[in-house]
Amino acid sequence: MSTLAYTSIEEIPKIHATARAAFQSGRTKSIEFRKAQIAQVGYLIKDNEQRFKEALRSDLGRPDQETELLDFGPTYAEVKDAYSNVAKWAKPQGIPFSINWFAMNPRVVAEPKGVALIISPFNFPIFLLLTPLISAIAAGSAAVLKPSEQTPAFSTLIAELVPKYLDPELYHVINGGVPETTKILELQWDHILYTGNGRVGRIIALAAAKHLTPVTLELGGKNPVVIDPRVDVKLAARRLLWGRFSNAGQICLSPEYVLVPEHFQDTLVEALKEAYASFYPEGPEKSDSLSRIVSSAHAARIKKLIDETKGTIVVGGQADVEKRYIAPTVVRDVKEGDSLLGDEIFGPVLALVPVKDVDEAIKFIQAREYPLAVYVFTHDKQFEKKVFSNTKSGAAVTNETVITAGVPGLPVGGIGPSGYGYYTGKHAFEQFSHYRVSLKNPAWVDKVAFFFRYPPYKPENRKY
Ligand code: NAD
Repeated sequence: MSTLAYTSIEEIPKIHATARAAFQSGRTKSIEFRKAQIAQVGYLIKDNEQRFKEALRSDLGRPDQETELLDFGPTYAEVKDAYSNVAKWAKPQGIPFSINWFAMNPRVVAEPKGVALIISPFNFPIFLLLTPLISAIAAGSAAVLKPSEQTPAFSTLIAELVPKYLDPELYHVINGGVPETTKILELQWDHILYTGNGRVGRIIALAAAKHLTPVTLELGGKNPVVIDPRVDVKLAARRLLWGRFSNAGQICLSPEYVLVPEHFQDTLVEALKEAYASFYPEGPEKSDSLSRIVSSAHAARIKKLIDETKGTIVVGGQADVEKRYIAPTVVRDVKEGDSLLGDEIFGPVLALVPVKDVDEAIKFIQAREYPLAVYVFTHDKQFEKKVFSNTKSGAAVTNETVITAGVPGLPVGGIGPSGYGYYTGKHAFEQFSHYRVSLKNPAWVDKVAFFFRYPPYKPENRKY
């Protein structure tokens, strides 16, 4: 495990002041400047792909293929989207024609909010740190990045690369843990985008409130799956296990539990076992297709949840906390009140919760906090509609899991306890922009109209 050099606390206000002064220089107003910096984010990754893969192998025991598919891929897509569209997003917008107002040229102008603070978690260090940065750059903001201290190799690397590739006065990395982040949060930012757990999300929102700073919170939760017994169960099993076991289940959009009709549980279990055997033919511990848990503390937490479950372990269940290894695990017959149905597991454990029918599944979801995603596996439109129209979540996805975050044009965002505001593309550009209204009224308007507003008020002037 590499060690991470923390930024000194005295340095933090100076970094903040440098970013603000650089923002005030006005150089981010130019779209060409923004495009050049967005492209630089792409080169920052492209030139150093090998080093990023090594860093994530060290921090997360991550197979390179997962880094390519889940971190590089969606981040490159964001670079392309922002680079190609920033001019369009930033263009002043008119309003629908109105005879009353057109002469005044009313416009909505997207202006940068100022200096953004971006705090990110350990699970997708590249995507979750650099995607918001791309959006902040597109909006013309300066930005300070606070990567997770739980990924020391990545956070060391990004602190080295950001000043090399990007304008070093506008864009900064601060490394540290709670004391450093607490210091950062005392300062006044123009927007804060935080990705992580809801407990810290509340700390961020409270700190931001002191300065009335707007916040985007990308939080977690427990994503349910509702499965229709008429579905192609083999395909469903593969997609479910992929979504649950990639990055060792440390994905905010990962399915946490499956609401399965009682009479269909055996069939689903058989299909899951078959998919499991094909994913890890030599067993998961020897497999080079499985990530590790970020820390032994998190591995111990997940092991405890497995040890305490009253359900029956179908596959997996083993753990080696020192090695940060948790075997991909499926547990059946999980019931209300079980350890696996409390807090977000955020690990490679899939719980199967038997229910009578789809109505009971919907009630189960309705009784819980709004998740980031509700997943349905079905070929029946009525089944799908019934689940989605009776539940709320950040995303509503059919016959798939997780991948919405990588589809350009689809924002990532939660609702209620899973967060507020949006990631990616134009939606994230808007998070870092202030929509400033402009209007220019020529003198002649008072001659032909609008004179009726002035006192003394007369009945014949009531033309509106
Ligand atoms: P983490 O431990 O890496 O913490 C995230 C960030 O919060 C870090 O930068 C950390 O330094 C900072 N932090 C920790 N304690 C703090 C404090 N007391 N004050 C201020 N800052 C503090 O990661 P995590 O929070 O465990 O991340 C996992 C969570 O993130 C899961 O709940 C997951 O669902 C969620 N998540 C959400 C999304 C999304 O898009 N909605 C994406 C990824 C992860």
